[in-house]
Amino acid sequence: MRRILLTGGAGFIGSTLAEKLLENECHLTIVDNFDNFYPRQVKEKNIKNFIQLSQVNFIEGDISNTGWIESALASFEFDVILHLAAKAGVRPSIADPLGYQETNVKGTQNLLEFARKKNIKQFVFASSSSVYGINGNTPWTENDYVLRPISPYASTKVSGELLGNVYSHLFNIRFLALRFFTVYGPRQRPDLAIHKFAKSILNDEPITMFGDGNTKRDYTYIDDIVDGIVSATNYDQSMYEVINLGNNQTISLSEMINILEQVFEKKAIINKIAEQPGDVPITYADITKARQLLNYNAKTNFEEGIIKFKDWFIG
Ligand code: NAD
Repeated sequence: MRRILLTGGAGFIGSTLAEKLLENECHLTIVDNFDNFYPRQVKEKNIKNFIQLSQVNFIEGDISNTGWIESALASFEFDVILHLAAKAGVRPSIADPLGYQETNVKGTQNLLEFARKKNIKQFVFASSSSVYGINGNTPWTENDYVLRPISPYASTKVSGELLGNVYSHLFNIRFLALRFFTVYGPRQRPDLAIHKFAKSILNDEPITMFGDGNTKRDYTYIDDIVDGIVSATNYDQSMYEVINLGNNQTISLSEMINILEQVFEKKAIINKIAEQPGDVPITYADITKARQLLNYNAKTNFEEGIIKFKDWFIG
């Protein structure tokens, strides 16, 4: 039975991934510290359907604590690490750059050290489209330049990819950095625009729109992302790869709001303010490489995905 260590498994993507992994035989150890970025109760709800299963170990703890990782996980053996734990979000990283560095960079290095010491040979890292910074040459391919990030969060994800290359080269650990493009769907983080806007629309509260509505995002449905991650656990053709997981389509902020209005059958009250520092004007993924290496395909179109999000949201 495959033994998997999943970090960040109480979060939006991690908990959905856990459920998918558990559809096949595996032993799953989940580490999460219920970081207070959003309420613990939300994360407890995310994991409640699988935390009691006999093949699941849930361990509460902080990946940035080197000694804790070594002692808490000492007795376990793993075949794969799926490293999703992070402080997520671009804007909050500007207020807390050291906190982001601590979890996202030191935490990642701690896990790579753990992999080295325990001889774990497959490491999948949740990277982000934010590494591309401001790059008008779209769609973005994995060979594009990423050494000019424009937020602390993005810089921590670049750092994670760089550390991965070091450990892959020196210690023969297969490292796959998957660059997720704005993930949405059931359980989406409450700080993300779709979730925030849906809540405001339903409560007849104004939504804050940054800029003139022309910024564009490549939104990727959660199940598509999860399929890409699962596929990466089996990839064995090379030792280090960076792979975009996106939808290969952009939706403008105004279009996104229109679709929310249609699906929720309610008009939004829009309060326009200036664009935020750290935000990029467009994200747009070329997913050719993911198709070739991971047999990945973004199957869910945006409207369909928003309908599924709504079903979850209104319960
Ligand atoms: P999330 O906040 O829902 O999940 C992250 C989980 O990590 C949380 O449960 C949190 O408690 C945990 N965590 C945070 N700090 C920790 C620490 N020090 N020790 C242990 N656990 C800790 O976020 P998400 O949207 O599910 O994102 C998952 C991963 O995907 C993150 O690495 C994120 O940067 C990356 N990502 C997400 C998106 C997106 O659109 N959601 C896009 C690009 C990349």
